[in-house]
Amino acid sequence: MANRVGKCAGILIFGVGLGLTVGNPARAAEAAPGRIKISVDATHAPQRILHAKLEIPTRPGPLTLYYPKWMPADHSPDGPISNLGGLHFTAGGKEIAWRQDLVDMYAFNLDIPEGVKSVDVSLDFMISAPGPTIDFSASGSAKLFILMWNQVVLYPKGWPAAELVFDPALSLPPGWKFNTSLPIKSQVANTIAFLPVALDLLIDSPVQAGEFVRVFPLNSDAKPKHEVDVVADDAWALDVPPALIANYTRLVAEAGTLYQSHHYRDYHFLLTLSDNVLFLGQEHHESSDDRVAEHTLADPNARLLEAGLFPHEFTHSWNGQYRRPEGLATPDFQQPMKGELLWVYEGLTDYLGTVLTARSGLLTPAQTRDQIALTASTMEHRAGRRWRSLQNTANAAQILYFAPQEWAASRRGTDFYAESVLIWLDVDATIRKLTSDRKSLDDFCHAFYGPPDGEPVVKTYNFTDLVSTLNQIAAHDWSSFFRERLDSTDAAAPLGGITGGGWKLVYTDDPNELLAAGDAESKGGDFTSSIGVRVRGDGTVIDAIPGMPGFDSGVSPYLRIVAVNGKQFSVDEMKGAIRDSKSRPGTIELVTTNTGRLETHAIRYEGGNRYPHLERIEGTPDYLDEILKPLTPVSAH
Ligand SMILES: [Zn+2]
Repeated sequence: MANRVGKCAGILIFGVGLGLTVGNPARAAEAAPGRIKISVDATHAPQRILHAKLEIPTRPGPLTLYYPKWMPADHSPDGPISNLGGLHFTAGGKEIAWRQDLVDMYAFNLDIPEGVKSVDVSLDFMISAPGPTIDFSASGSAKLFILMWNQVVLYPKGWPAAELVFDPALSLPPGWKFNTSLPIKSQVANTIAFLPVALDLLIDSPVQAGEFVRVFPLNSDAKPKHEVDVVADDAWALDVPPALIANYTRLVAEAGTLYQSHHYRDYHFLLTLSDNVLFLGQEHHESSDDRVAEHTLADPNARLLEAGLFPHEFTHSWNGQYRRPEGLATPDFQQPMKGELLWVYEGLTDYLGTVLTARSGLLTPAQTRDQIALTASTMEHRAGRRWRSLQNTANAAQILYFAPQEWAASRRGTDFYAESVLIWLDVDATIRKLTSDRKSLDDFCHAFYGPPDGEPVVKTYNFTDLVSTLNQIAAHDWSSFFRERLDSTDAAAPLGGITGGGWKLVYTDDPNELLAAGDAESKGGDFTSSIGVRVRGDGTVIDAIPGMPGFDSGVSPYLRIVAVNGKQFSVDEMKGAIRDSKSRPGTIELVTTNTGRLETHAIRYEGGNRYPHLERIEGTPDYLDEILKPLTPVSAH
């Protein structure tokens, strides 16, 4: 998942043979039930409702059916069960009573009458609109929707998801087109039948559908094929700039060179351009579900901010889907997941995504350095790092994903993304130094994600596997290397990767390109590295960092700034006041409302605008720029 509001899905245990039995051992010894038929009627998707009918083979006696709870790559128990409705169970046309389990809300218990061989299920899924909190039900509008099969599935307790085979079918509104990595059996008018598929691969294969759809092949002459499938709320948004398609084509080539393998049959970037669905990046083995605001590709600022989305989600096909930490490779959607290696699953993905974004030309090296500087500055100003280690942010991911932005610096967020970029840069620079630049993290990628090529499969690993593979590349006490950085509650962020890469973090009054783009897109102001405050465009305070001038003058989240130095609040007014603090020492006076009470805060600050940048350390090897260099010839694309 991209570190936005979204998350990742998909469990595939082909041939991995984790051999995990789930549910009651008696059942586990039994052969999995026959094919489960599921037909989804999405003809009313524009009205924000899906209908589904399932036919589940069973036998007389107690039966528990599960609604998927732990969504893989969400690393959280967030199956959208509150939008499940219209539930009916029948057999031979007779209604069967059901009870939602009093403890496990995601379990439905039934007693199957004698003589019954299958139970028919009908259900509805109610699509919602995006709101202030993360809601995965916000997956459709009048002109498009993304079918996440976990929204409309129930499955019997007792077998690994990989052993439950489904026969899926889907009916779309007339005239709508669709894209998915799922192999198709047949299509009659607007009804599609897919080839039989195991439950884990089904849930790992969303279907994107809509009225306005365009497909952009990236390498139609090669195998496996890669394409960008775009759906939008309006036809105008389908005009993807050819230069961007050229960058995406380079991304495919650069990833192929970095990972030297493919663990998918074909790959689909399912790009949704809409302001009416939850924005997310969700990876799967053979596709990624990427949803951004409708204007994103047409707006240089927004394009800059989303430049890393495809490289991140694509990288997950290798790191997260193919290679997966044992704690996250659960056999079904009910078993709790353990996030202790999320600094690899998400953290290393964020680093490799950052590298591929530069190598494929989606960002320039200078923009990438500004992004790394912004990341380092944000982590440097995480006051909460003094009580919460980076390791704990990974362990507590299922809590932190759903925490509000307010108090983020004191609480820490899903920092196992951003801060791990700094740690993995340190690993890369350290390998290059230890091997006199003969080896790098690329060699680790070849070894850890490499061949054999083939269909989707999950190969699990643990901390020891990771360290031993790194030792094959460059012998080092990698275990202590990571523990020092992961378990630390020091005030300072781990900047060894930046210095080891030949650069250092500095603050100047020249704008940081990525920070400026973020402010322009959000219409807010990020003053983290000056007075330690972040505000929305209307003056509400998102965060104030303890130990920084803003907080120390009494400013805190949820206040609203109404005036700056006697003038009505605006973000530009704030920027001006901070800029002038250098030339006109004194205090910056803010007037705020706090639950209806006016308050005045005198901020003691004379540092001017302080924007993070990386500055070259002359005379040291410039590993960072070397890392960002394309591995494939640019002209070829
Ligand atoms: Zn991710």
